[in-house]
Amino acid sequence: MNLTCIECPKGCLLTIEIQDSEVIVEGYDCLRGKRFGEKEVKNPTRTIATTVKTIYPELPVVSVRTASEIPKEDIFKVMEEINKVIIDKVYPIGTVLISNVCRTGADIITTSDMTRIINK
Ligand code: SF4
Repeated sequence: MNLTCIECPKGCLLTIEIQDSEVIVEGYDCLRGKRFGEKEVKNPTRTIATTVKTIYPELPVVSVRTASEIPKEDIFKVMEEINKVIIDKVYPIGTVLISNVCRTGADIITTSDMTRIINK
């Protein structure tokens, strides 16, 4: 299979084959790409970066992300949990909004500082 490495903007085109249960990756320019290709076959993961609604008109959404990578197959159910949240308190950057989201082991944290915009 072919896929593009997303570990850096260069976007090397990887070719991945499985031979005798071994993952063979070609086309990478650095070892990050080799590891990315192997992980995409064995255990693909992603970081989610998105926004959460707030009750504050002056800051209607706040940016959030997963604090660590989650299994790619869990992205949609994690997004469903994130979309249920409506922030009704003023939080600093790095606040955990959801701990261990969907039992992935990852927290959902704020990536912007609400206290700089809202004075409550
Ligand atoms: S293989 Fe290395 S150089 Fe190529 S896109 Fe991936 S991280 Fe970047």
